Amino acid sequence: MTPGTAPAPGLRAYAAPGALAAPPAAAPASAPAPAGLPPFGAQVFSAAVQRRRLPRDVFARLQATIARGATLDPDLAGAVAQAMKDWALEQGATHYAHWFQPLTGATAEKHDSFFSPAGDGTAIAEFSGTELVKGEPDASSFPNGGVRATFEARGYTAWDPTSPAFVLRRPTGAVLCIPTAFASWTGEALDHKIPLLRSMDALSNAVLAALRLFGDDASARVTATVGVEQEYFLVDERFVAARPDLLATGRTLFGAPPAKGQELDDHYFGSIPERVLACMLDAELELAALGVPIKTRHNEVAPGQYEIAPVFEGANVGSDHQQLTMQVLQGVARRHGLVCLLHEKPFAGLNGSGKHNNWSIGTDAGENLLDPGDTPAEQLRFLFLCAAVMQAVDTHQGLLRAATASAANDHRLGANEAPPAIMSMFLGAELEALLETLARGEEIATAPGDLLALGTPVLPPLPKDGGDRNRTSPFAFTGNKFEFRALGSSQSVALANTVLNTIVADAVAGLTGRLARALGAGATLASAVQDIVRDVYAAHRRIVFHGDGYADAWQDEAAARGLLNLRTTPDALPHLVTPEAVAVFGRHGVLSERELEARYEVFVEQYATRVGIEGATAAQIARTLLVPAALHQRRLIESAGGPLVPTLTEELDEVLEALVEGVRALEAVNASAGDDGAARALRVRDEILPAMGAVRAAADRLEHLVADELWPLPRYAEMLHQR
Ligand code: ADP
Ligand code: MG
Repeated sequence: MTPGTAPAPGLRAYAAPGALAAPPAAAPASAPAPAGLPPFGAQVFSAAVQRRRLPRDVFARLQATIARGATLDPDLAGAVAQAMKDWALEQGATHYAHWFQPLTGATAEKHDSFFSPAGDGTAIAEFSGTELVKGEPDASSFPNGGVRATFEARGYTAWDPTSPAFVLRRPTGAVLCIPTAFASWTGEALDHKIPLLRSMDALSNAVLAALRLFGDDASARVTATVGVEQEYFLVDERFVAARPDLLATGRTLFGAPPAKGQELDDHYFGSIPERVLACMLDAELELAALGVPIKTRHNEVAPGQYEIAPVFEGANVGSDHQQLTMQVLQGVARRHGLVCLLHEKPFAGLNGSGKHNNWSIGTDAGENLLDPGDTPAEQLRFLFLCAAVMQAVDTHQGLLRAATASAANDHRLGANEAPPAIMSMFLGAELEALLETLARGEEIATAPGDLLALGTPVLPPLPKDGGDRNRTSPFAFTGNKFEFRALGSSQSVALANTVLNTIVADAVAGLTGRLARALGAGATLASAVQDIVRDVYAAHRRIVFHGDGYADAWQDEAAARGLLNLRTTPDALPHLVTPEAVAVFGRHGVLSERELEARYEVFVEQYATRVGIEGATAAQIARTLLVPAALHQRRLIESAGGPLVPTLTEELDEVLEALVEGVRALEAVNASAGDDGAARALRVRDEILPAMGAVRAAADRLEHLVADELWPLPRYAEMLHQR
């Protein structure tokens, strides 16, 4: 990253005066922008490409494997590898990479060249079935929470044929990326993909069993569907280069509130600045070429904040595409002289960034099972599944919170921002009214007997568009899907969806058992389902909340209802490894106790490390940039002379003293936080974060006392309003 101009003498090195008056023209994208829409998926080894390039029987067997979610026949791999390689070479790829998702939440690639020495001084391009199917990255470089300790550094990546390979183009070349799972040699998941795939199987099995009781014998597979709205900030890269806090931690650790923030809402409703629009368009074109079905883009509430959202896909591909979206946004932003900040809270006092994880369940015939439907049969099925979701969310509140926990996301969930850390559900007025009718003991079906023969819908029409939407709810029914809004903007969505799929599978399985018994005892489907829904609602209605999630009153009411309020990551993470969590993941074969423990350890460690880096960065910035700036200011006042000198220096000295005291205290806790996982996490939370707060309070006061040209950090107003 290069600051635009040579630093002028003095402290303000990040931009020469006037440098930003004319923003640099957007750098040209790697390829000239085509007129109109580019070919979608041009860089994807998609089913369409496979049909053209694979022998007919190989293609048919591969597609059948994918559709059934079955294990891959090893002898298919050679033929697929051959076709994939030829295609990738035509795309300009020089290397291939097993692309995987270690527990860091980011993606990892290990590149291998296609070249294979021929022995006569030349080389041929080679890529075998074995190389496609299996790779061996050095597992010791990735977090594995103690799984490594026993099994040493050995891990392998395994091809996931259900997520298509793609060619990633960078200015430096093109690489064939093969989505893979990452496991230890003993088969333990070291990544986010394996549990997600297992949870999708669990959900499919459980829901299919339920569908049979509803008379559906045709569906062979159901899929969790996911569409993720991604929020992010764009900031001129020259400001970022001059902010060691943004560079090291992704958020500003200092910065007095600007005179103008997000109060006017002028950003949200304003038009998108040209450079930003060019960046967005580039990102969208690149994502389209990679087969990511981006659909919408718009401004968000805070200045400099935006959102991008795709059309939903199956959870596994949707999750892979979400990782690609973050990667592409960050890469493309740099080509436009911008930095894409994915941190959950880059700027204090402004809205943070989240991810809305829209989730539903679809059949292989393309039917959305969380759509209320028009016929009595569809509506009963819908009510049954909704009840299962309600039971799952209430029973496993802690798990859902833990799946979204991170040091960065605590600034949203644990602070005064939507959604709150308390998990609750919004159902919409109509659905709630319906459940209340049942709760009063009233029947909603008008006639007993063969439901399908009724002919007319017995339920009141349920709105397709969730009615009055509640933006503060962490888990909202929005007409034909649930929207889980607690995820942080920088997080992988895989874990949250793994949890959702698993807990819903568990609830569906339990309720299906009950339904089967009731039907066996001669109950009609309509009355059996209504009994179940009524009972589930009675047991779990405490999770339903339609009020204002920001309000203090909700904190008290939630406590009275017995709902969990896990404000910080160290509070939330233990819920990953409760006996109930271990049991539910174990029942469905999604994560073993060891795999869960490993995740717990990795996330605790990540939390402590992140906050530790923030503490060290804050202390360093205060000592080496802010204190010197204050001393310069002091000299400036003294050299000016005059009657105001005592007043001005007194004010400055008071703040400076508070800052120096604060830095000393921060340095002391930084040095003594220890290194044991859980204990350290508590200490960084209870000591480093408050000490950083004290340093920041003094520094932000100082920002108002120091001359603009002496202040060493770009200010909020500059970063937020200059694009
Ligand atoms: P919002 O009003 O919250 O912006 P939208 O209706 O625009 O909601 O949809 C937001 C996201 O929800 C999109 O990514 C969309 O693809 C996704 N979505 C829609 N239907 C489903 C579904 N059945 N399963 C999963 N996601 C869905
Ligand atoms: Mg939304």
